[in-house]
Amino acid sequence: MPTVPDPAPCDQDEQLYECPECGRRLCESTSPTVCPDCDGRLQNLSRPGPE
Ligand SMILES: [Zn+2]
Repeated sequence: MPTVPDPAPCDQDEQLYECPECGRRLCESTSPTVCPDCDGRLQNLSRPGPE
């Protein structure tokens, strides 16, 4: 069983990011590190750990 479910659909070339500060989620093909809403640090949910 996967421990991290896919929380939202993104295009294949995009990854899902979430801001733990305000809960905003966004799909980006680039690698954003800062939340556009609150300047919090984004977490990459599509890639939960280094492989
Ligand atoms: Zn935020």
